Amino acid sequence: MSQPAITPDTPEARRYNRIHRWLEIADFFLGLALLAVLLGTGWTRVLRDWAYRGASQRYVLALFFYVALLALIAKLLSFGLDYYGFRIEHRFQLSNQSLGSWLWDELKGWLLGLAIGSLLAEIVYWAIRSSPQNWWLWAWSIFIVLSVVFAQIAPVVLFPIFYKFKPLENAELRERLLRLSARAGTQVRGVYEWKLSEKSKKANAALTGLGQTRRIILADTLLENYSSDEIEAVLAHELGHHVHRHMMKSIVVQVGVTLLGFWLVNQALEYAIEQRHMFDSLGDFANLPLLVLVTTVLSFVLMPALNAYSRFHERQADRYCFAAIPSVTPFVTAMNKLADQNLAERAPSRFVEVFFHSHPATSKRIAAAEAFARKK
Ligand SMILES: [Zn+2]
Repeated sequence: MSQPAITPDTPEARRYNRIHRWLEIADFFLGLALLAVLLGTGWTRVLRDWAYRGASQRYVLALFFYVALLALIAKLLSFGLDYYGFRIEHRFQLSNQSLGSWLWDELKGWLLGLAIGSLLAEIVYWAIRSSPQNWWLWAWSIFIVLSVVFAQIAPVVLFPIFYKFKPLENAELRERLLRLSARAGTQVRGVYEWKLSEKSKKANAALTGLGQTRRIILADTLLENYSSDEIEAVLAHELGHHVHRHMMKSIVVQVGVTLLGFWLVNQALEYAIEQRHMFDSLGDFANLPLLVLVTTVLSFVLMPALNAYSRFHERQADRYCFAAIPSVTPFVTAMNKLADQNLAERAPSRFVEVFFHSHPATSKRIAAAEAFARKK
């Protein structure tokens, strides 16, 4: 068999992905700039004083008001970019979503972000006030528990805020999944149809949840347009994530990253207080932008490594899939269809792959499948 020819990317796909990347970069730097301005000008202390006044000097409520003010300013600043992102999906005919529905999602997303963000902030500053020396270890331990809880409740509480899900009705597919699971000696609790078509023309699938809530979700856009063999290939890939325990492994990595993050934040806060006299104390929540700044920069620095780790998981899940299905052909056709439907770049530059992609390029995944078939 000869080397497979890689379908070149259309100019449209290249343009769409380039715009998307610039949007991500602009959003990231806008966030950084906001944090830097708040800290550099001392406006963070002005916001803190407003929050205290609004809360009649009660700490916990004042912290909530402060986080809400920050979230509001951040949203107002980034709203233009967000709206442009919405327009882009329409311009490239990838979206079915009306403006009203998008705005409603934006509001829900903002409220959810505020709820989670203020919960995390209350935990951090509670830990700081209870144990100024070891607060970062306390906060870290609570964050670990929370990340497990969030992974568990995500498919049943968080995702349904934005999308509808229902158990997969297609008996043939359910039968195929049971056969795949039996061969893997494992059990996935369920397969759910994900009503993505109400909002997007793209297709997707994922393994989500933890323990009792672990499930494979398949977009209805995938179920409608792909053959049973192709869907089986996608299921086998998702099952590969399950068999290799990728969810748990990612959480373990997250635990390490979070520990490093909290340690760095503690160093930065102590420096800002003792050397630069920017804040009165650790418990002065006007220092929150510095905390966010340190974690944002850390996640940016670690991005290539975390993406590489994710691509490693994806390759493992792909290899699991190749071995589990009778022929790799439906995997290859499904990958090509997905790239077309989602306007994905099949062969991005190495730089783009390293910085932006959690999945290996389509061209590489197809080449791996064909190499597997040749060896068989
Ligand atoms: Zn995957």
